[in-house]
Amino acid sequence: MSNHRLWKPNGYAPYWEEDLETMPRERIRDLQLDLLKETVSLAFGKSPFYRKRFEEAGVSPAGLRTLEDLKRFPFIDKKALRERQEAAPPYGDMVCVPSEDLVYISASSGSTGVPTASPFTWRDFEEWQDYEARLFWSSGLRPTDIYCHSLQFTMFVGGPDVIGAMKVGALCVWAGAIPSERLLDILRKWKPTAIWTTPSYAWYLGETAQSQGVDPRRDLSVRKIFVAGEPGGSIPETRQRIEELWGANLYDYYGLSDIFGACAGMCEAKEGLHWAEDHILVEVLDQQTGKEVPDGERGELVLTSLKKRARPLIRFRTGDIVSLTTERCGCGRTHLRLHGIHGRVDDMLIISGLNVFPSDIETFVRQNQDLTGEYRLVVTEEKHLAHLTVEVEHVEGYSGAIDGLTGKVVHDIYKVLGIKPRVKVLPPNTLERATHKAKRVLDLRGQKAGV
Ligand SMILES: [Zn+2]
Repeated sequence: MSNHRLWKPNGYAPYWEEDLETMPRERIRDLQLDLLKETVSLAFGKSPFYRKRFEEAGVSPAGLRTLEDLKRFPFIDKKALRERQEAAPPYGDMVCVPSEDLVYISASSGSTGVPTASPFTWRDFEEWQDYEARLFWSSGLRPTDIYCHSLQFTMFVGGPDVIGAMKVGALCVWAGAIPSERLLDILRKWKPTAIWTTPSYAWYLGETAQSQGVDPRRDLSVRKIFVAGEPGGSIPETRQRIEELWGANLYDYYGLSDIFGACAGMCEAKEGLHWAEDHILVEVLDQQTGKEVPDGERGELVLTSLKKRARPLIRFRTGDIVSLTTERCGCGRTHLRLHGIHGRVDDMLIISGLNVFPSDIETFVRQNQDLTGEYRLVVTEEKHLAHLTVEVEHVEGYSGAIDGLTGKVVHDIYKVLGIKPRVKVLPPNTLERATHKAKRVLDLRGQKAGV
């Protein structure tokens, strides 16, 4: 690993690590097997938790001869991380190194509220930042860019990703989660060319600028927007509308606090999010059967870290529903791409027997030019059935009939998803704007309908 490199000697090569990024897939698989053997041996040898789990499942490092053999290894999930952390404080007995080897720790609260700690050795940390640099480079970030990191720093694993942008050679502003007034001030004065935030905040910030008479396209210099944390960045309609608002390219990123701040990111072709498969082994599994789903089909994302020493994760169920492709990308990279993060298992709604994710509805809301793009899904229970109401807003100055617009949204959703939700078209600015992660679903089941 060339840990002290700033950027490639030839400056503007298309790849950060050409040999690795364009490697034939068979060679990626060979490399993964070697790294997986090391990871499994480390876990078996150093972590009491993993040793016990492997023995209970009747698997061992010696039995790992092909990548297929991994399928016999047991899963872990967020709940397991939390339980081990409580059973063997402070960081749990999945940790494979002595505590003096740890140099960084992030914590994530997740949806259930109890924070889990994610420890790194120095080598883990450096490899992580090289990974981030590789992703940033693939999205076109270059030493000439001024990059404004507008993600929270406190305890949050997305914070240090800024070091990856510095490694690329960009001039980095460590803005963090500051009030939008101050952030807009930085955007006006220092003219960053790239920024990282969430899709809903990018939207909010652009609209806030406009309301102050600042046109992000004309008056600001942001031409690359990195987003993560919500499905919006991979929904073409949402992406397009944010891109139009800013006159910028939007690149979706996917992170997982228990591995890296960003684990996958869009390249300049913007056709899915690349992984670095020499660091992370990706499986997409049918939730019911646990079998791998074919390319393009939806399943749960299950990840295995291949280089992390402090706390390797082996077959970690993320709870995220994704689809992927192993086809070579237009950019020449061979590492697999996520088509999209369709939502979380927890966010999935079952309406009239069909699985519906908020991101499915977002597609319709964002492609309709008579709507502002804001939306909220309200789920109620009536006669023991889940009913979905989609709340949207018409744009300022809309002069058509509300009934007609309502009918169109219902029809569009029905045509593709096969469900007929209730649709409420509200006046503009009725729905609450998100300044961080948008809360799109209000689940009132268990309460009286209409509350
Ligand atoms: Zn690509």
